[in-house]
Amino acid sequence: MRPVNKGDSPRDYIDYGQARHDLAERIGYYCSYCEMKVYQGIEVEHILPVNQGGDELEWDNFLLSCKYCNTRKSDHNDNLSDYVWPDIDNTDLVFEYSEASVVTPQKGLSLELNQKAQQTIDLMKLDLFADNTTEADTRWRSRKEAWDLARKSYNSWDEAPIVEMARVIARTSLSGHYSIWMTVFRDVPEVLKEIDEVYRCKGLYKEYDEDGNRIVRPGGCI
Ligand SMILES: [Zn+2]
Repeated sequence: MRPVNKGDSPRDYIDYGQARHDLAERIGYYCSYCEMKVYQGIEVEHILPVNQGGDELEWDNFLLSCKYCNTRKSDHNDNLSDYVWPDIDNTDLVFEYSEASVVTPQKGLSLELNQKAQQTIDLMKLDLFADNTTEADTRWRSRKEAWDLARKSYNSWDEAPIVEMARVIARTSLSGHYSIWMTVFRDVPEVLKEIDEVYRCKGLYKEYDEDGNRIVRPGGCI
């Protein structure tokens, strides 16, 4: 799950839907949870649901979501602390992606983080396949395309491992599913660097302290 930085609220809202394009300007037209690219009907999602006490109009309580993640999540979380969130946590360190098992907690996490990761997967039902989801849920199709595209791009890199190819691959990765691209290219730092570079324009948050450790943000747990 790609960690993002929304920045400060650009304005006040009288309707939360107005924040849609402001959010997308900062973090791109991607679902914050499943990482699918979504232009049509992307939704402003309340991180803490309004009927669980979340603020309806507060920028800090907004993320962008596809309708499938938003519908699955619904108002089921009555707190934030049982989960990890891409706007405060370094969520790229928490999940592991594979085509067979979709997404699982990263190996080696503390028991507490492992639970939060699993609860986050369960909340948005991020690990559904064709055979256990609805006809309308296109998330698995989108993931499959990303795996295929990333693997073909990996072959292209094998044939021409030059910086220009890394840049082409990075631009292609903007079609969605950041974490799948990071997984396929995990052994190719030249490409990972370029992917992070293009996603920085889409609000990617990966900051390091002077010792080279990732910075944990206020309110974050990793
Ligand atoms: Zn989604």
